[in-house]
Amino acid sequence: MDDDPRSLVRAIEELHAARQLWLADERAYAARRRAEKARGHRQPRRNETWRDWQRGWGNIAFSPDPAVHPDGELSAVVDQVLRSSAAPGDTAALTCLVCGGRDDARPWSDGVSRVHQLCRRCGVSLAVERVDAHDPVLAAARTEQWKEIWRTRGVSSRTRVS
Ligand SMILES: [Zn+2]
Repeated sequence: MDDDPRSLVRAIEELHAARQLWLADERAYAARRRAEKARGHRQPRRNETWRDWQRGWGNIAFSPDPAVHPDGELSAVVDQVLRSSAAPGDTAALTCLVCGGRDDARPWSDGVSRVHQLCRRCGVSLAVERVDAHDPVLAAARTEQWKEIWRTRGVSSRTRVS
């Protein structure tokens, strides 16, 4: 950041643009749900949007592995996911709403309590499950990986730390 002080401003602008897209989608969803409830539909209907693909954990495009994430600007990634849809009956497949990859995932453990199935193309988590086996060595490596990213200056965060 010392070499490019404007990078912080660009990052904030990118976050703000993505947040505006998400907030607009939230407002539209809230209005739709109010109308459905007024018609007596208390349970949300499946509508083939990204909300039906969340698999119960509510993230738009979570990339837990800090070394791998989508290439596009955050607002473009969020927009892609918000505008995505799924064919009826297609929800069983692990499909990435960011890049379109299908059933091409790799496991990634946080070393503490979760194993994600990450899209091999862009790193977005397609599914997650809780695990009982705590791996302190792996957890320490993940923590050190984050620290190294924050210490690194002028090196892309996409550089894989193995
Ligand atoms: Zn992907």
